[in-house]
Amino acid sequence: MKIGFIGLGNMGAPMAANLAKAGHEVVGFDMTDVAVEGVSMAGSGAEAASGAEVVITMLPNGQILRAVANEMIPAMAQGSALVDCSTVDVDSARAVAEQASVAGLLSVDAPVSGGIGGAAAGTLTFMAGGTAEAFAKAEPLFDIMGQKAVHCGEAGSGQAAKICNNMILGVTMIATCEAFALADKLGLDRQKMFDVVSTSSGYSWTMNAYCPAPGVGPQSPADTGYQPGFAAELMLKDLRLSQQAAESADADTPMGQAATALYEKFVEGEGGLGMDFSAMLPRFEKRGRG
Ligand code: NAD
Repeated sequence: MKIGFIGLGNMGAPMAANLAKAGHEVVGFDMTDVAVEGVSMAGSGAEAASGAEVVITMLPNGQILRAVANEMIPAMAQGSALVDCSTVDVDSARAVAEQASVAGLLSVDAPVSGGIGGAAAGTLTFMAGGTAEAFAKAEPLFDIMGQKAVHCGEAGSGQAAKICNNMILGVTMIATCEAFALADKLGLDRQKMFDVVSTSSGYSWTMNAYCPAPGVGPQSPADTGYQPGFAAELMLKDLRLSQQAAESADADTPMGQAATALYEKFVEGEGGLGMDFSAMLPRFEKRGRG
């Protein structure tokens, strides 16, 4: 299959390389000068998109996605598919899907979880929104780049699933970290805290699989000085998208709102930038109630 791939950053580059390795003809484009094994580079997004059966985008945000879509949709052949794997706001995902549909194209919003490690290993999870026909066209490519693809519903549903999941993740990480900090102050050993909570009703992915306390639970970024992992600023990006969607849909999300405010403070004023999102624990450790 001839595939256009636009946005060859930390995630896009290894995803495109995996498609090329599987035997597809991949033509890439990025604003910056990058080289990806097996991928030939085009001079523009439109050039990478022209003649492609599927065009995949992996871009920083919805504004950039809309600009790139404006440029490349006119260059795409009728019946070809636009597959956006970036994490963007639901409104942008729906607007781009509408624009693609008017131009006679198929489209899927298919954000991923699994991070840079999953992109390199080809073990991402895709959460997809779009018609059944569009999903069917993209699915063989999801199988190469990932280990699981869930068709969540119509256009925008993939982004909706992603931000709801990550809103739970942000809230749960904060709850886990503040509970550890409280346990410290109550004189409870962290290993004992883990042993109890990880097998009791307070268990969660953040406690059991990604424990924010160094030396406790399975290996996690806490064990390597909170190097990401999943950076606090990316958590903040997803939490902001969840609140933007909540505004737009008139949904009451007080915990999501509180988590957004806390990660905002952490990233913008408390040294959280560039740290893993589990570094909320040392943040709480240093503080009292005041
Ligand atoms: P990145 O910044 O490394 O890559 C984005 C790439 O897009 C860059 O190479 C940039 O030069 C390119 N780009 C920007 N504007 C462009 C344009 N107009 N035309 C062509 N290329 C352009 O970011 P990333 O970490 O690869 O993340 C990409 C997306 O995946 C984001 O939406 C992010 O939220 C999401 N995501 C990231 C992770 C992660 O762990 N990094 C995990 C899940 C989802």
